[in-house]
Order: sequence, then C-alpha cells, then structure tokens
Amino acid sequence: MDMNTKTCKNCSQQFQVSPEDKSFYVKINVPEPTHCPACRMQRRLAFRNERNLFRRQCDMCKKQIVATFDTDAPFPVFCPECWWSDKWDPSQYGRDFDFGRTFFEQMEDLMRVTPKSSVLHLNNENSDYNTLLAYSKNTYMSPGSYFMQDCFYCRKSQYCKDCVNNNLIDHCELVASSVNCKECYNGHHLINCRSCSDCAYVVDSSASQYCFMCAGIANSKFKIKNRQYSQEEYKKLVEEYMRKNPDDLMREFQEFSVTVPKKYQNQLNCEHSSGDYIQSCKNAIDCYDCFDLEDCKYVIESVNAKDSMDLSMHDKDIELCYECSSGGESNKNLKFSYCTIASPNSEYLYSCFYLADSFGCDGIHTRSKNQILNKKYSESDYKLMRQQIVEHMMRTGEYGEFFPISISPFPYNQTLTQDYFPLTREQALAKGYKWKDPDPKQYMPATAQIPYSIEETPDSITQEILACEACGKNYKVIAQELNLYRKLHLPIPRKCPECRYLGLLSLKNQRQLWNRTCAKCDMPIQTTYSPDRQETVYCEKCYLGTIY
Ligand SMILES: [Zn+2]
Ligand SMILES: [Zn+2]
Ligand SMILES: [Zn+2]
Ligand SMILES: [Zn+2]
Repeated sequence: MDMNTKTCKNCSQQFQVSPEDKSFYVKINVPEPTHCPACRMQRRLAFRNERNLFRRQCDMCKKQIVATFDTDAPFPVFCPECWWSDKWDPSQYGRDFDFGRTFFEQMEDLMRVTPKSSVLHLNNENSDYNTLLAYSKNTYMSPGSYFMQDCFYCRKSQYCKDCVNNNLIDHCELVASSVNCKECYNGHHLINCRSCSDCAYVVDSSASQYCFMCAGIANSKFKIKNRQYSQEEYKKLVEEYMRKNPDDLMREFQEFSVTVPKKYQNQLNCEHSSGDYIQSCKNAIDCYDCFDLEDCKYVIESVNAKDSMDLSMHDKDIELCYECSSGGESNKNLKFSYCTIASPNSEYLYSCFYLADSFGCDGIHTRSKNQILNKKYSESDYKLMRQQIVEHMMRTGEYGEFFPISISPFPYNQTLTQDYFPLTREQALAKGYKWKDPDPKQYMPATAQIPYSIEETPDSITQEILACEACGKNYKVIAQELNLYRKLHLPIPRKCPECRYLGLLSLKNQRQLWNRTCAKCDMPIQTTYSPDRQETVYCEKCYLGTIY
C-alpha cells in the first residue's frame, strides 16, 4: 500500500496516512491531520469530564445543583431546566469574526462567557447525581449510559438493572465489578463474557452457568479454574473461595487467566475489521468498544456510525463525521465538535443542538442555521464568511484541527483524557493545559470500619464517612446501593469509586494494535496484547480450534 508517513506535531512520533484515509479527507474537504491518531484522541477526550461532579448554585434560579463545573468556572452554569429554557438567549453572546486574530482565541472568548449546562441529562427520573445519562431511573454516577434502572457507578452501559461498579456492560442484571459483558445475570468480576449467569471471576466466556475463576469457557456448568466439579463440590469450594480477601481473589484469578490462550482480538460478526470489543462492524479499522460501524476508522465507544473517522462516544445515525466527541444522533457531515446533537453540515460546535450549517458556536439549542460565533447570517453571507474563515484558518494552521486542549473548560486531570494519557501537574501546565489539585478536605480518617461480610454490615454504614484503602479518599455508600450489595451478597467495596473505576480500566488492554504472530500456527496477527505480555495469543482459527 502507498502509505504516507507523517510526523505528529504534538508527540513527534511517526504515523501513517493511507490512500483510503486520504480519499476520506478529500471527500469531507479537510487537510490531512498533523496529529497522530492517539494525540487526536487525547485532544478530544480532554473535553469530557465524566466523574468529577461538584455541588454549586445554578446561576439562573439559584437552586443547589450538581455540576461538572466547579464554582470557579469563568462562565455562568445553569441547571438543565434553566439551560434548556427560553429565559436566556445564546445569541446575546454572538460576535463578529475578527480576521486579525486566530479562530481558536475567538472561540475560547465565546466559550468563557456562554452559559453551560451543569450536567447533560436526557429524560431521567430520580437520577440527579450524574452527567451524560439518558432514559434512566434511580441511577447514580453512570456517565455515558442509557436505559439504566437502579444502577450505581456503571459507566458507558445500557439496558441494565441492579448493577454496580461496571464499565461497558449491555443488557445485564445483578452484575457487579465487570467489564465488556453482554446479557449476563447475577455475576461479578466478569470480563468479556456473554450470556453467563451465576458466575464470578470469569473471563472470555459465554453461555455458562455456575462457573468460578474460569477463562475461555463456553456452555459450561460447575467449573472452577476450567475443571469440572459436581454441584456439591462446586458449592463448597466457591464458599471457601469467597471467604478470601477480594484483592487476593483477583490476583489468583489473573494468575490463572494468563495460563489460558487468548484470542487476538475480540470481534463478533465483523467483516474486514480490526480493533477490540467490536460487534456487527464492516470495514471498521482500529476501532474499540463499538458496534454497528461501517467504513470507519479510529472510533471508540460509539454505535451506529458510517463513513466516519476519529469519533469518541459519538453515536447513533452518524455519517461523514470527523473528529467529534460525545453527543451524536443524526449528525451528518459534522466536524471538530464536542457534545453536539442533530447538527448537520457544521464545524467547531460546542454543546449545540439542532444547529445546521454553522461554524464555531457554543450553547445554541433551538432549531437554527447559518450561525458563526453565535451570530446569525443570511445563507449567502454565511457561505462567504465561512469560506473566508476557513482560508484564514488554513493560513494560521488551525483548520482541520480539533479545539486545542488549552481551551477545554475543564482541568486536564478532571477529564477522561487523564485516564488514557496521564500527565503530571508539571507536564500539563508546561503544555498550557489547565490543572486542578484534588481538595485535601476530601481525605479524612474513616468514621467506621467496613465489615468483610455484607450480612454483618449495619444500615448505619450509610451515615458513615469511609476512607479508600488504596488512596485514602473519602466516599459514602448510599442506602439504595447498600440494598443492592445485600441483594448481590457482596461486601461493601473498600476502595473509593475512582479507584474501583481505575481497577476496571486496568483489566482492559490498551487501545493499540501490535504486530505479532499466532503462538500456534505462526500466522501474522494484529493484537492488543503487546509482545512483552505473558499471555499466549492465538489467531481466530487456532483459538476456536483450541478453546471451543
Ligand atoms: Zn502524536
Ligand atoms: Zn436553574
Ligand atoms: Zn481510592
Ligand atoms: Zn493460528
């Protein structure tokens, strides 16, 4: 293939632009990227704060609210009711474009004064302590999720009930501490499992019941460490296991797991695709945690997109989109935008809804078009202005780039990008990114000890301040959450929600493909298992032949 090798402007690593990439850039009329795919993702994720919520006032109705923006944010922060109301008009912040300045400077000025919605919610019931949640009920801290009921700390999940501490689970019930699972029931510590019930500490498995500490099994019952037991033996042994310390159990599980061969990539019903945890995709290259993609590349955690590149959490009926993060829903030809919905043929939008044919706007949320920097133009004036601005931005080197991290409204370490591209305070500040140290007031001694068994845990634990055994940060357990742990027969976690989330994240391989060969047949494979890892990695054919 005729690859064009370029050097990333941000990290100086080399990256490839393929002829297919090139024809996509021509089709959507943008210059070739100057940043490598990883740096492009780092930039997009620096605008998404999922887990840092603050108590503050709505700057319109003065109600006490939960917000993703701390009290020192420069712009007004409104509760969702006020933000969506007609009590304010985003066009009052509209301004003329100044050809003597860069576009990003002017976009930053606009973003510093335009009111922001405290959290992003859509049709939820009794689920205030959340952001980026939709169609959910009695749900707590489950960012990026939808159709959730009675769930706690379930990130990027959908159609779940009675679940707690999970990442990327789908159609699950009574599931805890699990990642990348689908249609599982009554289980915990499951990784990449499908249709498993009454299982715990199980990885890469499907259609199994009553299995404990297993890897790569299917259609199994009463197995421990992949060995068959009688029902009675199984019950007795699992009871013994469950009396162990959860950290020791996890270690034992991981030590066992590496002894079982792994599949090179996790794909289900995909054609000509690469990446990991992808389902029903066609020509999806270097994509992760996605389903229903067609002709896509560098897409993560998105659903139902076509002919698009560089998307993160941007899904549902997407076509010809490039460098977009969060939001989605009926976006056609949307570029360089954050949290934008149903806004076709637009570029550089931040938190806009139903805004067509527009450029560089913030907070527009009524049906409109032909706006630049929140100012309305006639259709012909818009076309002309847009053309001149793009030419100006080509000269300043801005066009074709997502918003710079320095203009993100969030400190770098409060965003999702810190999870994947961690920086120290000094490194972030040297790059011109915002940073905020954690509040030392959040690290007090615990007011109670957590019992090892849920049966011995009193109701009063919900009144106590707990301290994370890993990082010391304080956290609480709310009454509904306690009820769920009782239903699951699981002890209250001894780590704070943040450490639990990072623990789940560490169970997933990095979103990077390595060139290796199958350990059995020597065929070249691309896999997310880096060459220095202990696991034996097989190609599709050898894996199916050995495991099932
Ligand atoms: Zn780079
Ligand atoms: Zn309000
Ligand atoms: Zn912690
Ligand atoms: Zn093989």
